Amino acid sequence: MIPPAFGSMSLTPAANWDGPQVAGGRPPVPLPSCCHFLEQANEALLLTDAEHRILVMNRAFGDFIGCAANALVGQPLSDYLLSPTALLHDEFDDRFRVQVECRHVSGERRPALLSVSRLRDATGGVERHVIVVTDLAALMDSSRPQSQGREVYFDALTGLPNLQLVTQLIQDALQHAERTDGELAVCSLDLDHFKAINDRLGESAGNLLLSGLAQRLSHLLGGDEVLARIGGDEFVVVMHRRAEHAFLEQLQSAIRQPILIGDQSVRVSASLGVTHYPYDAVDGEVLLRHATQAMYRAKQRGRDTYHCFDPDLDQALQVRQERRRRFAQAIDGDELRLYYQPQVDMASGEVVGVEALVRWQHPQEGLLAPGLFLPDIAGTSLEIDLGEWVLSQALCQLQSWREAGITLPVSVNISPAHLLQDDFPERLAVLLEANPQVPARLLKLEVLETAAMHDINTAMAVIRQCQTLGVDVAIDDFGTGFSSLTYLRQLPVDLIKIDKSFVRDMLSDPGDMAIIESIIYMANRFDRAMLAEGVESLEHARALFRVGCTLAQGFGIARPMPAGRVPEWLEEWPRREEWTDLQRPIDGSHLV
Ligand code: C2E
Ligand code: MG
Ligand code: MG
Repeated sequence: MIPPAFGSMSLTPAANWDGPQVAGGRPPVPLPSCCHFLEQANEALLLTDAEHRILVMNRAFGDFIGCAANALVGQPLSDYLLSPTALLHDEFDDRFRVQVECRHVSGERRPALLSVSRLRDATGGVERHVIVVTDLAALMDSSRPQSQGREVYFDALTGLPNLQLVTQLIQDALQHAERTDGELAVCSLDLDHFKAINDRLGESAGNLLLSGLAQRLSHLLGGDEVLARIGGDEFVVVMHRRAEHAFLEQLQSAIRQPILIGDQSVRVSASLGVTHYPYDAVDGEVLLRHATQAMYRAKQRGRDTYHCFDPDLDQALQVRQERRRRFAQAIDGDELRLYYQPQVDMASGEVVGVEALVRWQHPQEGLLAPGLFLPDIAGTSLEIDLGEWVLSQALCQLQSWREAGITLPVSVNISPAHLLQDDFPERLAVLLEANPQVPARLLKLEVLETAAMHDINTAMAVIRQCQTLGVDVAIDDFGTGFSSLTYLRQLPVDLIKIDKSFVRDMLSDPGDMAIIESIIYMANRFDRAMLAEGVESLEHARALFRVGCTLAQGFGIARPMPAGRVPEWLEEWPRREEWTDLQRPIDGSHLV
């Protein structure tokens, strides 16, 4: 129903125009070159002169009235309107819309919306009008039961199309854009703090403000562009072109101009959200929803601004939300597993504990490492749900190992958000109480260095409370969080885990080796135990041993494994003499 923008029409007289002569003896004014286009358009279109005599009417308008294209040329348009005065409009208002009833040749009344654009000559006199005729009966037929009147399509206060009509108009405009490979912008506009204004000045002043703004905004739009009021202080603009930055600024500055209500000058602002088809290739209703979503984003960003909807970002967000929903199911549906990776003392060969590492046994995608799902749940309450699951699962495992005669401390990774929850120590105490046969000293927590540094005072308090319960705390991935010496001294941790990134390259990168040596030096000075992660080879183990770090964990010792495989590994381990006999290099006898 909405034709392409007339703003782009050329007004250059067509040299070879030999179209219909205007009745009434006036010499024909040269017609614009767009007339051919008018005739071709699918929408009902008219070109009238200054007095609204029909100069050109296309086939679609002929169909609407019940005659051939151009059959009414030369006749006053008002002859075909039941309310002829409808076209008398404010002389200064060059764009307006008016709801009329047209007279079909059969005598039938046909409701229509006329969108009128005045074209002026060089001296400012009105030369012609371009009129887009929207067949409201057709709209009603396609979207509403017959019994409902056309007033369902217009907002009583402003006379603008309402939500029903604009939804239909967007759908029509979309089809038009599809056919013509054109663009479409849907813009949602919501006044900021309108409720406060309404409360302060009263409802009738609020209404005056809304209709005043509606008028102002209409003036910024082309004849084929739609302004609708879809709710209290919510408007929608639909146009067949990109809503460029300059245009959006123009809308906003028009809204910001003070408006006089009685003797009060009132100022308002609005938040705008825009989406563009075909960039956002969805149907009409979704386009409107996306524009509204973007408008809410503009509100969040502090109001009196605009935000453009980004379909790629929305897609990514939806994917992430879907993954979160799926992960929540995984927790409830028993799809998570804990794998255990041994930690050993290379000096004594003793196994000092295991680290619990979560895995997702996904029914379709197989066994997923935490790097594939933890980022999706970061910052959500699922992080806490997972943490609780891991803690209680680890305690159950401790219990069953104890029953099997295996006493092996289990370290659990605690996410920063989980650790800093107000009731973390209380929840931990409850979980420990639920497993009374498991001594608290067998449970250890691993806290990321970055988490501890983020809110050092809270972290310290929580860590102390955990230790009071008998649970040791290790600082994980140490060296990656730029901890200062002071912090390390203050942090009441029992173990420092040297990050695997330094260990991996320590043999080839003197810088990494220097970092490891400094960490070991600091840990010794502050009397903290330390453990190296990522020990992949005997060579790494020996080098670490040489610089004084004897606790180790890594693929060279064992990969993370399901709980069921741990007893078997524990039996095997003492037989791996090259690893368990590392203390011998202290004599220097077989160092590389
Ligand atoms: P992390 O706590 O530092 O755990 C050590 C990670 O290094 C594990 O990866 C482990 O499989 C891997 N690793 C161990 N030895 C070696 C080695 O020699 N070479 C190499 N290249 N890697 C080694 P994973 O299991 O993929 O876990 C990655 C991270 O995910 C963990 O790092 C931890 O931060 C987090 N994570 C794992 N499980 C949990 C959990 O239950 N809760 C929370 N909040 N985070 C977890
Ligand atoms: Mg860890
Ligand atoms: Mg680590």
